[in-house]
Amino acid sequence: MKISKLRLSGFKSFVEPATLFIEPGLTGVVGPNGCGKSNLLEAIRWVMGENSPKSMRSGGMEDVIFAGTQSRPRRDFAEVVLQGEDDGGDEMEVVRRIERGAGSAYRLNGRDVRAKDVALIFADAATGAHSPALVSQGKIAQVIAAKPTERRQMLEEAAGIAGLHVRRRDAESK
Ligand code: ATP
Ligand code: MG
Repeated sequence: MKISKLRLSGFKSFVEPATLFIEPGLTGVVGPNGCGKSNLLEAIRWVMGENSPKSMRSGGMEDVIFAGTQSRPRRDFAEVVLQGEDDGGDEMEVVRRIERGAGSAYRLNGRDVRAKDVALIFADAATGAHSPALVSQGKIAQVIAAKPTERRQMLEEAAGIAGLHVRRRDAESK
């Protein structure tokens, strides 16, 4: 899929609603320490169904909701909206929302859906929360230090063409 727009509200440090437009090509996120770069990547993973505390750097599900500061009260919900195009070129909108004490819920193109339905959409390794197309901080060093063949494999996975080699080898062996 192609992501074109991301909207966050009450998600981690993104307390006020924020909209980001993601242009085609490579997108880098830069900024001072603690400004929310990693939170942004986590928001993309979260709306795709990520729940693992390690990936989300959280203890519990509700830890993604803005917890408040000395000058700002905490929020009661967090919401992330992901807009883009599916692989067939159709518009797609996924919304995940979590409310304190009420758990999290998903909407796909305006309809309530189950977590399972969203998981199915992002089950492909080239998309989804574990996609190599989402490169987090520590991963950059790994990409730089990798051997050329390894780096090529990472890039191919990110581009969603890694499967082509397997299929080609398979075809050549016949
Ligand atoms: P670095 O360059 O150090 O990696 P970063 O830009 O990746 O920084 P993040 O880790 O995305 O920064 O953001 C960290 C900030 O988010 C911290 O100030 C932390 O307090 C805040 N934060 C995380 N979760 C919440 C939450 N639930 N409520 C409020 N603030 C939060
Ligand atoms: Mg970070």
